Amino acid sequence: MLSLHLVLQLGSILMNLKKIALIEGDGIGPEISRSVVELISSLVPHLEWIRLNHEDAYTDRAGHFWDCLNSCDAILKGPTTTTQGSGRRSLNVAIRTSLGLFANVRPVRSFAPFIPCARPVDMVIIRENEEDLYVGLEYQQSPQQAHALKIGTNYASRRLSLYALEFARHQSRNKITCMTKDNIMKITDGMFAQNFRTACLEYPEIKANHKIIDIGAALVATRPEEFEIIVTTNLYGDIISDIAAQVAGSVGLAGSANVGESSAMFEAIHGSAPDIAGLGLANPSGLISASVMMLSYLGCVEEADLLENAWLKTLEEGVATKDICPPDKAPVTTEEFVSAIKGRIGSSPLSLRRSPPFPQIKIPAQVTEQDEHLDLDLVGVDIFIRHSQSSGGRKEALILSGQAPNFGLSLESVFNRGVKIVPYPENMSWMSDQWRHRFMTDQPPSISAKNLWAFVSQVSNLGFKITRVETLCAGPRGPMFSE
Ligand code: NAD
Repeated sequence: MLSLHLVLQLGSILMNLKKIALIEGDGIGPEISRSVVELISSLVPHLEWIRLNHEDAYTDRAGHFWDCLNSCDAILKGPTTTTQGSGRRSLNVAIRTSLGLFANVRPVRSFAPFIPCARPVDMVIIRENEEDLYVGLEYQQSPQQAHALKIGTNYASRRLSLYALEFARHQSRNKITCMTKDNIMKITDGMFAQNFRTACLEYPEIKANHKIIDIGAALVATRPEEFEIIVTTNLYGDIISDIAAQVAGSVGLAGSANVGESSAMFEAIHGSAPDIAGLGLANPSGLISASVMMLSYLGCVEEADLLENAWLKTLEEGVATKDICPPDKAPVTTEEFVSAIKGRIGSSPLSLRRSPPFPQIKIPAQVTEQDEHLDLDLVGVDIFIRHSQSSGGRKEALILSGQAPNFGLSLESVFNRGVKIVPYPENMSWMSDQWRHRFMTDQPPSISAKNLWAFVSQVSNLGFKITRVETLCAGPRGPMFSE
C-alpha cells in the first residue's frame, strides 16, 4: 500500500509535469538539441519530452504535429533549413504565425574577457513576429516584375510596443529604441513607429527614441553599448540580431523566445549551419540560452539558474567551441562543451552575471482593435497594367484618360517602378513591363465602389492586361496611400 504522503508527492509531481515539444531540426540541429536536452533532463526530471519531426509539419495530414504544439507547455526547437529562392514556406514562420507567437525576444550579450568580442553588448532585441515582409505574399504578374506585400497592422505594432515596454520595466532597463525605415515606407513603417511613440506615453520612466534602421544597424555593429532594448519589425529584427550576436562574439551564442498569449517557442537565433553539420564544431550556447529562458518561463527558476550558472562558469574557464575560441587556445567539440557544463552544475561564475529571469508579461487591456469601424472614403484606384515599353505608356494613357471621365474618374499619373512617367516628359530610367495608372475621383470626396469597379471592368474589356488593382482610400487625416 502506498502511504498518503507518497501519493501526495506523486500527485504533485504529476501536476507539475510539463510537456515540451522538441523539434530537433536539421543541419547542426540534432547535435545541439540532443546534448542540450540531455543536459536539461539531468536537471529537471519532471519534463515530458514529445519528439516531433519537422518534416511532419508538411506531411502529417491528421494534424497531429500542430495539435501537439498547441497542447504542450512550451516548444524547444533546433534550427531548420529553408530552401532559398523557391520551395516550401519556412517552418519557423509557420509555427510563429499559427500559434500567434507575436513577440520574438532576442537577448544578446558579450562575455568579455572570456570570449573575444568586437564591442561590449548587452541588449534585448524585440522583434515583431507575425507580419511585415515575412507574411511571404509574393507575386510575379509579368515576366519582368515581381511584388512582395509588406503587411503591418495597428493592433500588432501596438501590442508589440507595449510588450517591449513591459519587458523593459520587468528587467529594469531604462532605454528603448524603435528602428524602422519610416522615412521611406511612411505608411507601413510609419504605422509601427507611431504606435511605438503612442505606447511610450504610458511609460514616462523609460527613455524612448527612434533610429532609422540603416544607421541603427550601423550603430548596433559599432556602438552596441548605446542600446538596451530595441523594438523593430520582423525583417529588420532578424538582421540586426545576427549583427549584434556576431559583434558579441558569435551568432552561435544567442538564444530567443517566441512568445504568444498561451504558447511559447524557444530556439537559437542561428540557422542550421550546413557548412559545419556533423563536424562537432557547433556551439550549443544559443540553444542553452534559449533553454534557460524556457525553464524560467515554465516556472523552473532554480533549474534555470543552475543551468545558466554552469554555462557561464564553463565560458569563464575558457572552455570554448571553435567559433568563440581565442586564437591561443584549443577548441572543444559540441559534446565536450556540453559535458563541461554538466560537470559544473552547482557551481557559480566568478564575474559573469546571470541574466534576469524571463518575465511572464500580460499586455495591458487597452490594446483593442479600435480602428475597425472607422469610415473611409474611396477616392480612386491604381490599376497596374502590363504592356510593352515601346510606347512609354503614352498611347495607353491616352486611351484610358478618355474613358475614365465616363465613370467619374480622371487619370492622375502613370508610374513605372515608382518613377512618374505621365504627365512628366518620359523619364530616362529603364522601364519595366508593368505600369501603374492612377485614377482619382472627379467628384470629391469619394467615388462609389460600383462606378470604380465598372471602370476596372471597362479597362479589362478594352483589352488591357490588368495585373493588379489597389483601391485608394482617405480617412480623417487625409490620403491613406503613397504618392
Ligand atoms: P546560419 O546561422 O545557419 O550560419 C551562418 C554562419 O554561422 C555559418 O558559417 C555557420 O557555420 C555559423 N554558425 C551558425 N550557427 C552556429 C553555431 N551554433 N556554432 C558555430 N557556428 C555557427 O545561417 P545560414 O547559413 O544563412 O542559414 C542556413 C539555413 O538555416 C538556411 O536554410 C536558413 O533558412 C536556415 N535558418 C533557420 C533558422 C531557424 O531555424 N531558426 C534561422 C536562420 C536561418
